[in-house]
Amino acid sequence: MTKPAGTHFDSDDLHEVTGILESLMSVANDENYVEDQDSEKRVLLLGRPRSLRRWDTRWLQQSGFAVTMVDDAENALVAAESLEPCAVIAEAAFRDSSRLPVYLRLLDAEDLDVPVIVLSTSGSETRDALDNGAYDVARKPFDFRIVSRRVRQAAQIADSGAALEQTRHSLRSAVELADRVREQKRTSESFEPVTGLPNRSKFQELLRRSATSITSNGNVLLVCVVSLNRFNLITEALGVKQSDQVAFDTAGILRECLQSTADSVKLESGLRTASVARIDPGRFALLMTVSPDAAELDELRRVVMERLSAPMSVDGQTVYLSPCIGAAFYPTDVSELSQVLGKAESAMRDARSRGAQFCHHSKKVDKDIARKLQIENRLHAAIDNKELRLAYQPLVDIASSRIVGCEALLRWPQPDGSFLPPAEFVPIAEASGLMVSIGRFVLNSACRQMADWRERGMDPIRMSVNVSKCQLLDPGFPDVVRRCVETHGVDPGLLDLELSERGALSPETNVVSRLEALKELGVSLSIDDFGTGEAAIAYLKDLPLDVLKIDRSYIMELRSNGAESAITSAMVALGQKLNLTVVAEGVESNEQLAMLRGMGCDQYQGFYLSPAVSPDELASLVQKTP
Ligand code: C2E
Ligand code: CA
Ligand code: CA
Repeated sequence: MTKPAGTHFDSDDLHEVTGILESLMSVANDENYVEDQDSEKRVLLLGRPRSLRRWDTRWLQQSGFAVTMVDDAENALVAAESLEPCAVIAEAAFRDSSRLPVYLRLLDAEDLDVPVIVLSTSGSETRDALDNGAYDVARKPFDFRIVSRRVRQAAQIADSGAALEQTRHSLRSAVELADRVREQKRTSESFEPVTGLPNRSKFQELLRRSATSITSNGNVLLVCVVSLNRFNLITEALGVKQSDQVAFDTAGILRECLQSTADSVKLESGLRTASVARIDPGRFALLMTVSPDAAELDELRRVVMERLSAPMSVDGQTVYLSPCIGAAFYPTDVSELSQVLGKAESAMRDARSRGAQFCHHSKKVDKDIARKLQIENRLHAAIDNKELRLAYQPLVDIASSRIVGCEALLRWPQPDGSFLPPAEFVPIAEASGLMVSIGRFVLNSACRQMADWRERGMDPIRMSVNVSKCQLLDPGFPDVVRRCVETHGVDPGLLDLELSERGALSPETNVVSRLEALKELGVSLSIDDFGTGEAAIAYLKDLPLDVLKIDRSYIMELRSNGAESAITSAMVALGQKLNLTVVAEGVESNEQLAMLRGMGCDQYQGFYLSPAVSPDELASLVQKTP
C-alpha cells in the first residue's frame, strides 16, 4: 500500500525545524560568534618573490591568521578559490603574463567574494585599486601592523556579513517551512490520509463546484453513498492496518467503477465531472455529472455492487464488505445542494435497515408513500381482526443439541395463503406508530404461550421476543413488560428481549437507563443482528446485555475453507470475553454448525434444525430432541 505523499508533518520536518532554529540561535548567540572568529583563518599573500620575502608577516600570525604566499601569477586565482582565505593581500605591481595586475583577476572572478587589500607604491596604483573595488589600499612603506589590523577588520566584516547571510538563509528556510506546513494543513483538512481521497468537507466543495457547471446544459449531479457495513468489524477483528488496506483497495475499486461508467455512458453536452471521496471510515461518496435521463445510475450501481460484493483478500484472510448504496440526484431529487449528500446517506441507511443493498432517494419516497399507505390501512384492519400470529423458531444449545429456547416471529397471513414478510411490514408499522400496539400483542402472545406450554407440562425453555426501537423509546415500556410477566405468571428469567443493533440499539437511541430498568425486572437482553450496525463493539461494553446474536449474513458466508471465519470467530471470542451467550442465527448446514462448534459458539438458530413453526410443532420438536 502506498501512502499519498506530503500529507503529514513528520519527523524529518521536525528535524528541519530544529536545524533552522539552532542555526538562528547560533547566530544570535555572541559566544558562538566569538568562537567562530577564534578558529584559524587564512590570509593569502600575492606578490613577486622578492617582495614576499621582505614582508613582515609576523603581525598577521600574531593576530591568529595562517598565511599562504603565492608568487606565481598564474596560480593566484586557483589558490584564492581553493584556500577560501578571509582576506587577500596583493602587491599592485604583481602582474600576470599579459601585464594585468593579478589582484584584478581576483576582483573580477564571479565566484570569489574576498576582501582584497592592495599594496600600492604610487597614487595611480592606489586610484586604480580603489576604482576596481579593492577593499583597502596600503601605501609604501608597508606597515604590516596596520595591514594586519585591516585584515582583521575585513575578516570581521566578512564574518558578520556571512552571519547576516546565514540568518537570512535560516529565515528564508523557516518561511518556506511555514508555507509547507500551511499547505500540509490545508491538505489534511481536505484529504483523507489513508486513501488520499477528498474528505467530507472537500467533497461538499467539489459538489458546489460541479453544480455551477450543470446549470446551462440540463445535466444533473448524481451523488451515491457507498457504505461498507462490515468495516468496523474488520477493524476490530483484523486490525487497523488491515482495515486501512481494505479502505485503500475500495478507493481504487470505486475510482475504476466511476471511470468505467463515465466511459460507457457518453454525456451529450457539457463537462463530465466525477469524484470519489471517503466521508467516514467505512463510507465513501461518489459524485458524477450525468445526463438528464440519469441512465448512469443503474450502470454505476451494478458495477459497484458487483465489484464490492466479491470477497476481498486482506493479509491472506478473505473478507466480505457487505456494501450498501444510497443515491440522490441534484437538482431533480433534492433541490437544496447542501442536502444532497445527507439524502443519499439516509437513503443508504434506509436500504441497510431493510437488509437491502440499494435505495434511491426519490424513487423510494414515491414508492414508499403508496405502499406504506396501503399496508398501513390493511395493518389496522389486521390488528382489529386478530390476523397477526406468532411462529416460534427453536434455539439450540450447540454442545448438548438440546432446544433451550425459541424466538417468537410475527406472521401475517395474506388472503392468497402467503405471508407478508415481517421485514416488510414491521418498518411500516414502526413508521406509522402501529408497532407499539403490535409489540404489546407480541409480548402478550409470547408470554401467554409460555404459560400454555408450562400448563401442558413442557419443560421450561427461554422465549425471545423482538423489541422494536419505538417500543424501547416509550418510557412506559418496562411497565408493559412487567405487567405482561405478572399477568401470565411467567418466570422473567426465561424472557429474553431482542434489540436489533440496526434499529433499537443504533447510536442515535440513548437507551442505557431504559435497559437498566428492564434488567431490574429480571429479564435478559440480547443484541440482535450483531455485525450489521455501525458502532457494533462500542455498545457492548456499556450496555447491560446477556446474549449476542451474530447476524445471519456472517453465518451464510461461513465455508470450511476459512473464508469469513476470521471475523465470525473474533465475534464469538468477543462475546465470550464479555461473558455473553453467543448465538449464531441462520444456520442452514452441518458444515456451518461444525465450524461454529469449533469456534466455541454457545447456541444456534436456523433452518438446519427448523424454521419458525406453530406452537404445537415446537412442543413436539422439544420432545423429540434429547
Ligand atoms: P430476526 O429477528 O433476525 O429474525 C430472524 C429471521 O431470520 C426470521 O425471519 C427467520 O425466519 C429467519 N431465519 C431463521 N433461520 C434462518 C435460516 O436458517 N435461513 C434463512 N434464510 N432465514 C432464517 P422473519 O421471520 O422473516 O423475520 C424477519 C425480521 O422481522 C426479524 O429478523 C425481525 O427483525 C423482524 N421481526 C419479526 N417478528 C418481529 C416482532 O415480533 N417484533 C419486531 N419488532 N420485529 C420482528
Ligand atoms: Ca431477532
Ligand atoms: Ca437477527
